[in-house]
Amino acid sequence: MTHPFRARAFTTLAVAASTLCFAAQAQDKPAPISVDEVRSHIAILASDAFEGRGPGTAGETRTLDYLAKTWASYGLISGTNDAAHPWFQPVPLVERKPYAQAVHATVRGKLLKLAEDGVLLSGRNPTDRATGEPLFVGYGVGADGKLNADVQGRIVLMLSAEPKFEGAAKLPTSRERQKMLAEAGAAAVLVTAPEAAPWGALRNQLANGSMRLASDDIGAPITGVLRADVTEAMLRTVRLSPADAMAKAGQSGFAAMPLPVALDLATSTSVRSFESHNVIGKIPGAKPGSGAVVLLGHWDHLGICRSEEAEDRICNGAVDNASGMAVLLTVAERLGRGAPMDRDVYFMGTTAEERGLLGAYHFADKPVVPLEQIVVALNVDTVAIAPAGAPVALVGRGENGLDEIVDKIARDMGRAVDADTEANAFIRRQDGWALGAKGVKSIMAGGSFSDMKLLQAFLTTVYHQPDDELTDATELGGAADDANLHVNLARHFADEAKYKPATTGD
Ligand SMILES: [Zn+2]
Repeated sequence: MTHPFRARAFTTLAVAASTLCFAAQAQDKPAPISVDEVRSHIAILASDAFEGRGPGTAGETRTLDYLAKTWASYGLISGTNDAAHPWFQPVPLVERKPYAQAVHATVRGKLLKLAEDGVLLSGRNPTDRATGEPLFVGYGVGADGKLNADVQGRIVLMLSAEPKFEGAAKLPTSRERQKMLAEAGAAAVLVTAPEAAPWGALRNQLANGSMRLASDDIGAPITGVLRADVTEAMLRTVRLSPADAMAKAGQSGFAAMPLPVALDLATSTSVRSFESHNVIGKIPGAKPGSGAVVLLGHWDHLGICRSEEAEDRICNGAVDNASGMAVLLTVAERLGRGAPMDRDVYFMGTTAEERGLLGAYHFADKPVVPLEQIVVALNVDTVAIAPAGAPVALVGRGENGLDEIVDKIARDMGRAVDADTEANAFIRRQDGWALGAKGVKSIMAGGSFSDMKLLQAFLTTVYHQPDDELTDATELGGAADDANLHVNLARHFADEAKYKPATTGD
């Protein structure tokens, strides 16, 4: 492998050598990370040769190899702390790809017209079938967060939106509620399509297969998503509009309602168990036992995401998230050759973020250092959005007492701070969530989440499409800025004197 940057840096140093004290300069004040450095890594990770970095594909092998070898070349060592698995933490996964489904619904003997393309089903086993009257369970839980119905053997219809009850504490997410229903023995769990997700994108996502951690492989025999018009047709059988259904489901006395529909669901699914990996390197700290800083980003993307007829079949994920990995590489290079730090600094590329933060959840279950020793987790995702000089926004602002520190470091670097909490809309949609949910102080800092117009422009166009490719137009100014920000953030949090985490019990 070649590293164009290294050659260029060498030339720069050779020139600097003719001036005074170049060694001290190089040690103390390395040149800021440049757009070209970031670009050189994205160009490799998002190239067609990496096949869109799908977990369990040849693209995974290439990606892991590139990340580990590049980090090693910067002086990092394996960070798995597991001699049997240097660099690569195994993440056992199960993937299911549906290839056929049949949906048949009748109301009092009359065929209920449900657009079959409005129902997306997947089975637990190669073939599965469920018949019976569906039970509308609203959010599936009451204000106490517990299941609100006996669902044993039932086909269940659940709202995917966040439950809202007056005065209720934090309630389980849609994913968690689906799992609860499956564990309670539901024969099928059908959920309404999330409002924000366009149906076409859901369809592609499902056709691409669903993945779970093998350790978390609990699902109903059949799971499915219903397009809004299908949900509507089902609820109409009990004279409920979708809005009424939501309102009713949010009332404390809500009781599950059987829908008078004879439903017959059948699925054919291919099921594959395999091992993917988180890749983890570290820069050992000078003061062992003083804690750890974890920088993470997801290495995976959607892989080969279109059928054989498509002109471009590869979802390259240049922005999502080759850009974040490029930042983690450049930051590792600067920190690896810089002055020693007190704490261990870990660099992790997670797998299967796109399939539900799976690699990050696995790490949170089997951390390579005890979670309470991690003083901060800094996630880097989708950074090639904003131009240079964008204000620094924080996903996680107000959540863990780190705002002032990050704001000061950003301002000291001449960057403005975006102090609102708009970016927190993404808090559950990023790997840091898996760690934050277990009490690790977790933030995602950078320019991408300060300009919602630019971010939305990305999310509504090339995001998760084959067009998320590296081009001359890809904006990398903000990515280089964010890389430099993370050099300073990591240095600060790795410094025992500068950053003392609150002790347990505070
Ligand atoms: Zn993504």
